[in-house]
Amino acid sequence: MQYERGSPQSYDQWAKITGDRTWKYEQILKYFKKMEEYLGISTKEGNGDMNDGTLNLTLGQEIWFNAGRELGFTIFNFSEPQRVGFHPLRFTQKNGMRINTYAAFLKTIEETRKTFLEIRRYSIVSKILFEGKRATGVYYTRHGIPRVASAMKEVIICAGTFKTPILLIKSGIGSESQLRAANVGPIIAILPEVGRNLQDHPIVQIGPISFDDNITLWNPQQNFTFEDVEQFFKFKKGPLTNPYELKFGEAIVASNGSAREVGPGWPDLQISFDSVKCTIRLIRSHSRGLLKFNSSATGIEDPFFLTAEFKFFKIDRDIDAMIQGIDFCFKVVESTESFQKFGAKHVHQSIAECDHEEFGSKEYWTCYVKHTAGLSYSAVGTCRMGKKYELDPPRSSVVDHKLRVHDVENLRIVDASVMPTIPNANVAAATMMIAEKSSDIIINHYCRKNSKLCETKNKS
Ligand SMILES: Cc1cc2nc3c(=O)[nH]c(=O)nc-3n(C[C@H](O)[C@H](O)[C@H](O)COP(=O)(O)OP(=O)(O)OC[C@H]3O[C@@H](n4cnc5c(N)ncnc54)[C@H](O)[C@@H]3O)c2cc1C
Repeated sequence: MQYERGSPQSYDQWAKITGDRTWKYEQILKYFKKMEEYLGISTKEGNGDMNDGTLNLTLGQEIWFNAGRELGFTIFNFSEPQRVGFHPLRFTQKNGMRINTYAAFLKTIEETRKTFLEIRRYSIVSKILFEGKRATGVYYTRHGIPRVASAMKEVIICAGTFKTPILLIKSGIGSESQLRAANVGPIIAILPEVGRNLQDHPIVQIGPISFDDNITLWNPQQNFTFEDVEQFFKFKKGPLTNPYELKFGEAIVASNGSAREVGPGWPDLQISFDSVKCTIRLIRSHSRGLLKFNSSATGIEDPFFLTAEFKFFKIDRDIDAMIQGIDFCFKVVESTESFQKFGAKHVHQSIAECDHEEFGSKEYWTCYVKHTAGLSYSAVGTCRMGKKYELDPPRSSVVDHKLRVHDVENLRIVDASVMPTIPNANVAAATMMIAEKSSDIIINHYCRKNSKLCETKNKS
């Protein structure tokens, strides 16, 4: 998975929203660092805290970074605070293969500290159980058998941006209309923000980009040899360990609107290139969507019960920013010597819906963005963290700054749904940071009462 911390300003904004300074970037940086282990090539020249470097550039990376320098941008590495510039991509990989959060953080603990952690795979939670306002456990099924897990201290929900709000509603926590639609009872707490504030990074792609036919930028994956396969299986090395996007890189830029509004230090566009197409991702969109609960569905288990409405591009400045991202791609591909020496050019493929507009005009790209934009699978925000009541704009939130669900006791949410605003980078790193921070919050809370946890705290 692509790994990026995102901009310091994104987290400073969380601190502002929650009124809790411990969400500021300078404070949460320690959680990023705690979970990161850099296993790539290291150089002494790196400016970040990990001296990561990009020796042995692929041809694609060379072209990309040279184009960036030509356009006057600097190259920054991934452990530096995000800023306007070009940078190499980094992935969560170990021994040449993708590593997930279970393998990275839980497996060893599950195997070595069985008294502390029991993972019950294949369990589907359908309801949080309450005594009055106090969460006491969950109801779940495993291999078709209904079961109850009781909480000694508290219940922590981490079912993600779509499933966590559903679980809350199934358990009687949501807006009045949602709870009515779901026809669940009893009502435990009225929290109108459940399922609202849905955010993602909209993306559009332009291409294909063609090059002179005597260069192949799509290697080395295109031409695997038997030796490459052998190298991978025997030593976990070689071209098969190379995530395909690594061949080029990414650029972080600020649209005019963003630069005007918040200065150049909090960019809103992420541009990447993968040898046939350029991808533009709006990483600080102003759109806010919602999950809709369909009251005509047959019940809460009905797959049509939930629909996600992202409501992208309801705001003109989001479209303007996207169009500036498209212009940027053209600038890189069609105006830099680095790309031009390989004969790079955009091959116009007609979009029937936009044929009535002149290709390349603002109207054409507006139409193109509206008809081709997609999600980047970074959905967040449906159980947003914040103060219980906010005045500007007037609204409430779902969890407080310590991730506790408002108006009930012993219930916390720890996943991407709590993000009040989407960070301007791929969001898995931010989700893992939230998990690291929450473990600190929880240990600090119970440490007062339990000496064993205090020992853990002092060790970490
Ligand atoms: C195709 C794809 C590609 C992506 N690529 C990247 C990338 O390259 N870089 C990046 O930064 N981000 C990427 N993301 C986003 C990233 O995966 C998510 O942001 C991140 O996983 C969110 O973590 P989470 O813990 O909130 O939710 P999840 O990772 O979704 O975890 C929720 C867990 O809860 C479980 N669950 C749900 N409901 C129940 C229930 N009722 N009972 C029991 N368990 C339940 C689910 O099975 C799941 O294991 C990608 C997402 C997708 C879909």
